[in-house]
Amino acid sequence: MPRSTIARIDTNAIRQNYRRALALGNGTRAMAVIKADGYGHGIRDVAVALKDEAPKFAVACIEEAHAIREAGVSQPVVLLQGPHSDQDIGTSEAEGFELVIHSEHQLNWLDQQAVVPVLWIKVNSGMNRLGFSPADLEGVMARLEAAGHGQKITGFVTHFACADDPSSDFTAQQTDCFARAVAPWPHLEKSLGNSAAHFREGQSLYDWSRPGIMLYGASPMINTFGPDLDLEPAMTLEAELTSVRTIQAGEAVGYGGSFKATQETRMGIVAVGYGDGYPRHAGTDTPAWVNGRRIRLIGRVSMDMLAVDLNNAPNAKPGDRVELWGKNISVDEVARHAGTIGYELLTGVTVRVPRVRE
Ligand SMILES: *Cc1c(COP(=O)(O)O)cnc(C)c1O
Repeated sequence: MPRSTIARIDTNAIRQNYRRALALGNGTRAMAVIKADGYGHGIRDVAVALKDEAPKFAVACIEEAHAIREAGVSQPVVLLQGPHSDQDIGTSEAEGFELVIHSEHQLNWLDQQAVVPVLWIKVNSGMNRLGFSPADLEGVMARLEAAGHGQKITGFVTHFACADDPSSDFTAQQTDCFARAVAPWPHLEKSLGNSAAHFREGQSLYDWSRPGIMLYGASPMINTFGPDLDLEPAMTLEAELTSVRTIQAGEAVGYGGSFKATQETRMGIVAVGYGDGYPRHAGTDTPAWVNGRRIRLIGRVSMDMLAVDLNNAPNAKPGDRVELWGKNISVDEVARHAGTIGYELLTGVTVRVPRVRE
C-alpha cells in the first residue's frame, strides 16, 4: 500500500477562484498564472481545469509552457521572463507562446530573427526586478519596429512590488508611472495586476490581469487568509495519524526536546514532515485538523513525521486522517506560524507527495 500522505487537488475550487478573479476584475480578461507546477498543484491538471475558462496562461519558463501543450491545452502561453536563449524565440513562434521582453540582450536576439512570436514589453515601474525604464521605451519600440517586429508587439506589462500591503501607496505610484510610460501607444494592450491588485479598491487592471496565488485559494494580502477573501482552498495536504501515546507533565517530545509537556498530554505522530514540504519552521501551536477538531503541533517537525497534541481530539486514533492545511486550516495560517507565505508552502510540496485530483 502506498503511504497515504497526499495533496488533494480540488479543480472546481480553481475554476471558482478564477471566476472570482474575473468578477473582481470588472471586465478585465485574466491570464491564469500557473508557473511553478501550478503553484504546486500540478501544472497539467490546472491547465486542463481552466482550459474552457482562461483565454491565456502565464508561466515562468518554456519548460512549463511545453507542459501545458503536453496536457493538450492550446491557448496562448505567456513566458513572463521571455526567452532565455535565442532558440526560445523560434520555438515560441511555433508553439503559440508569447514572450515578455525585458532586457537588451533579448532585443539582440530578436534583431537576428526573421519571424518572432507575439511580444509583450516589460516596463520597470519601480520594482526594479525586470523591465525597461520608462525613458528607454521609445528606443525599444523603435528598435523592434526597425527589425520588422513592430506588428508583433501586443502590449506592455509591469509588476507590482507592494500590492499585498493595503497601507502602501506604492501601487498607485507604479500604476501612474506605467500609465504615463505607455501613453504614447494607446492602441496596445496593458497588463499590470497580480492577485493582490484584484483586492485593492479602485485599482485599474486594464486589459489583462494576471492572477496566480488567488486561483489556488490562498491569500495574496498580508495578514489575511484566503477564505476571508472568499477564495476556496484548492489543495488539502493530508496524512495519517500513525501512532498515539500519552506523556506526563515534564516529558519532552522530538528532536532537541524543544516541547515539554506541562500536563498529561495525549499526543500523536503524523506521517508528514519537511521531506514532504511541510515547513520545519512551523513550531509548537501551529494548527492542524483531525475528526472535525482543531489540534496543534508540538515540538520540532522532522523529515517524515511531526507530533501533535490530541487533548482537543480525544477520539483520534491511529489511521485517522489529519489535515495539515486545506479547507479547515488555511495554508496562510500555517505559513504565518512558519514565518513565510502560502506561496512558499504550496510550491514547496515535494514530489514524494502524490497529487490526487478530485
Ligand atoms: C507570479 C507572477 C504573477 C502572479 O502573482 P500572484 O501574486 O501569484 O498573483 C503575476 N505577474 C508576474 C510577472 C509574475 O511573475
